[in-house]
Amino acid sequence: ASTFDYRPTRAVISLSAIKENVRNLRKQLSNNTDMIAVVKADGYGHGAMQSAQAAIEAGAIMAAVATPDEALELRTKGFSHPILVMGPSPITFLSEASKQNIAVTVTGVQWARDAVEELKDFKGILTVHVKIDTGMGRIGIRSEQELKELLKILEGTSAIKIEGTFTHFATADEKDSKRTHKQFEAFTQLVACFPQRPKLVHAANSAAALRFPEFALDAVRFGIGMYGISPSDVVKAEQPFRLKRALRLETEIAYVKQVNAIEPISYGGTYEAQPGEWIATLPIGYADGLKRGLRNQEVLVRGQRVPIVGTICMDQCMIRLPEHVSEGEPVVILGKQGTEEITMEEWATRLGTIPYEIAVTIARRVQRQYF
Ligand code: PLP
Repeated sequence: ASTFDYRPTRAVISLSAIKENVRNLRKQLSNNTDMIAVVKADGYGHGAMQSAQAAIEAGAIMAAVATPDEALELRTKGFSHPILVMGPSPITFLSEASKQNIAVTVTGVQWARDAVEELKDFKGILTVHVKIDTGMGRIGIRSEQELKELLKILEGTSAIKIEGTFTHFATADEKDSKRTHKQFEAFTQLVACFPQRPKLVHAANSAAALRFPEFALDAVRFGIGMYGISPSDVVKAEQPFRLKRALRLETEIAYVKQVNAIEPISYGGTYEAQPGEWIATLPIGYADGLKRGLRNQEVLVRGQRVPIVGTICMDQCMIRLPEHVSEGEPVVILGKQGTEEITMEEWATRLGTIPYEIAVTIARRVQRQYF
């Protein structure tokens, strides 16, 4: 048992839900389409190592991360399957990447030049995926001319092996699919310029994989959906199977009191409890990811929605109960209790953001428990 076990605030993560989501998506795809499990940002807050391993057990062939450090963390923890760093990698990372069998992304012509120079006398092999920007406007080459120039530069070394090429959709989760179709068309045209088609040509994120199986190609990069969260309401309405939520955030009541006069609650005294009200304190606050902006958000106690009252503190917050409830009573912050459910989407709407940001906001301090 770790010292963390003393705090009842925890994220309980179902690896079988992750596996089920991976299996269900794989069933929708052709046998020629592989799955790359996207586990950047610590597996969208679900734990990169555990999520990657679960996805592999359910048939994924590779884990994708955003940064070199995230890739190295997986290797340090013993993840032995292929890894792709999808974001930019500094040239200084390349020999280590090769040694650790980590594939990196070729972001552009200058990067290719620098990489070839760096690997001049290198004895190993560096595996790369060439990024093509078809409308995301982030990283990658944007024209046939650039691609040809880049491929010519890479021919200058035998230390670099092109394993894949990929693009990323900017609007696959939106109702209007025109841009996604345009991006796919542009990608197809540029992929045709490779003298030899790379082994893994991939484009689809969760939204595209769920909505446009015709864009699945050799692999899909399954991120948010793997954790049971729909990329958007549009995708939710169209997805071919129900995604199963993997994370639940829970705690226990730490302290209960009945107020006997009008009493201010929390910083600023902006909430005034009325005589007779039951106010409970929860050991969770904004340093755990329960953002201050979630004031008035509800949580679940005995299967009922009850509101957070007053300012959310760094490590604690207060809720108003309809009746006396004992200290130690379980409280669900995100997830189901009885027939009620609080979702990341609900928080996202309240905070004016997307569920992706909610998932990665649950702090490292919150103990993760797996089952
Ligand atoms: N591919 C790339 C390049 C990404 O940046 C991401 C994450 O945003 C993904 C795939 C996975 O996207 P999603 O979580 O929407 O499936």
